Amino acid sequence: MIKIIFLGTSDAIPSAERNHTSILLEYKNENILIDCGEGTQRQFRKAKLNPNKVTKILITHWHGDHVLGLPGLLQTLAFSGYNKTLDIYGPKGTKEFMKILLRTFAFQGKYRINVEEVEKRFFENDDFCLQAESMTHGTPCNAYSFVKKGRLRIDKKKLKKTNLKGPILKKLKEGKDFVYQGKEYLAKNLTYEEDSKKVSFIFDTSFNKNIVPFVKNSDLLVCESTFGEELEDKAEEYRHLNVKQTADIAKRSKSKKLVLTHISQRYSKNPKKILDAAKKIFKNSVLVKDLDEIEVK
Ligand SMILES: [Zn+2]
Ligand SMILES: [Zn+2]
Repeated sequence: MIKIIFLGTSDAIPSAERNHTSILLEYKNENILIDCGEGTQRQFRKAKLNPNKVTKILITHWHGDHVLGLPGLLQTLAFSGYNKTLDIYGPKGTKEFMKILLRTFAFQGKYRINVEEVEKRFFENDDFCLQAESMTHGTPCNAYSFVKKGRLRIDKKKLKKTNLKGPILKKLKEGKDFVYQGKEYLAKNLTYEEDSKKVSFIFDTSFNKNIVPFVKNSDLLVCESTFGEELEDKAEEYRHLNVKQTADIAKRSKSKKLVLTHISQRYSKNPKKILDAAKKIFKNSVLVKDLDEIEVK
């Protein structure tokens, strides 16, 4: 099971109800933090979660509302005996920003921080992989996907059209390409993954051609929703999506569920306005508040 905890759901200016952006993805022993806005470590406490369990931090971009909580969190980890290597992934520029950030206060962490600037598939083990794609926001910005791998199955219909049989099928089951009776076979053409799960995160971007292919078939699509449909021009000016575009991305990517977050104070009295606009285009939309949790089974 993959669990997503929305630690903060505000846009650039936090409010009494909404903290700056931060999301925790829990899966087995992994606790992956996506962005770390100001006050994130207190949100951990409110959610009764232990920040010491964080294994990786993915930074979408270096605007303050996505990173101002980093110094505080890194310091707390140092005070509480964090003893793993902390992997911090981000877009181009992340190494330099991290260097500056660690110089702005007397950081005395004894643990190792590994910083990487990433694109495309940047982490993979037997169980899951992490992918990044460049967005358009006036500063380097990444969207991310977490993909839990499924079990590889042979597509029997496609297999029938070949004359493959016997021990050679073992190679297919392992996802390996091979040559049989002088003909080359690619495993990806004869197999499919069963039970794979995908969770995608899109923050702070104008619409661009990378988005829909990148988030294709997400089980859960978490997306910024800063501007309503009435503020199309403003969204474009500040290089954000408007809610109609957000819902359209969910629809065109054939995602199963859309989560709206990064909500502006403008809608604090009536967040339903954003949600209703999304639902007109993509029915299975929800709008989260701080500390909401969603499970992907
Ligand atoms: Zn933002
Ligand atoms: Zn931003």
